[in-house]
Amino acid sequence: MKDCEKYKALIVGLMDNELTPKEIHEVNAHLMRCGQCREEYEQLKETTESLNTMSFNEPQDEVLRKFWKSPYSRWARLSGMLLIAGGWLVLMVYGLIEMIRDNSEPPLPRIGIAAMIIGFFVLLIMVIRERAVTYQSDPYKEIER
Ligand SMILES: [Zn+2]
Repeated sequence: MKDCEKYKALIVGLMDNELTPKEIHEVNAHLMRCGQCREEYEQLKETTESLNTMSFNEPQDEVLRKFWKSPYSRWARLSGMLLIAGGWLVLMVYGLIEMIRDNSEPPLPRIGIAAMIIGFFVLLIMVIRERAVTYQSDPYKEIER
């Protein structure tokens, strides 16, 4: 059919929302009559839709997921956490040693402070362990909250 060539351009225009109401009416009328163009229209529609979905939705999620799942970012988070904890540890151990070596203070406050520091360690280790377990079982829980 000769008409079909003309309607092909209109079908593409229909996809891009570039047609006047009159043209839309014409294309629709032709699509009703012509199975070949209707097939082409369906195919084009499918392609356009999957293209839209791919370029506007999926890649962003996919990239984000890959980023959070990537070994690098997990490693970076873990090492950041360990550095902070390690820094605290060094300071605490230093303070503890200084306190034990310093005999000028009466023993009771020193024991109290030492108990507090040890308690802090215990809590810190618990938090780190808990977080490590959370990361292992669900690597991208945090981005979806
Ligand atoms: Zn046709």
